[in-house]
Amino acid sequence: MAIRKIRIDGDEILSKTSRPVTDFDDRLFQLLDDMKDTLYHAEGCGLAAVQVGVLRRVVVVDCGDGLLELINPEIVFREGEQKEAEGCLSVPGVVGVTLRPETVRVRAQNREGNWCLYQGKGLKARCFCHELDHLDGILFKQKLAPGEKLERCE
Ligand code: ZN
Repeated sequence: MAIRKIRIDGDEILSKTSRPVTDFDDRLFQLLDDMKDTLYHAEGCGLAAVQVGVLRRVVVVDCGDGLLELINPEIVFREGEQKEAEGCLSVPGVVGVTLRPETVRVRAQNREGNWCLYQGKGLKARCFCHELDHLDGILFKQKLAPGEKLERCE
């Protein structure tokens, strides 16, 4: 078990674009395993590799129904709209209401390199959108719904 340090807002790596994964090797598997441990330790529902300082397009998500490992993920379908409060392990102590699609479908590779399709509604759709934004250097506070602002939450 290896818990990696989560980068916090203000760290310039969080605004960088992550590169695609090309090698499905032991280094990737180690990263995925460490990201899982880090996610569960922090009690989050999603974590992107950039949040542990690795600029690769890798995300882990668990919205209470099991762990998903998404490699080179992309949103291929979005429908509807939701306005809900959102937070981020890299932006501790605050939440804000964002505008997200109600349903998304994500195409991603698994650790064997096979392409799979995942559907998310509600919380899971938010989580997919939030984590994929991290891969393009975008934080949820840049996606606040009109008129919304960050609120403290301790
Ligand atoms: Zn986040």
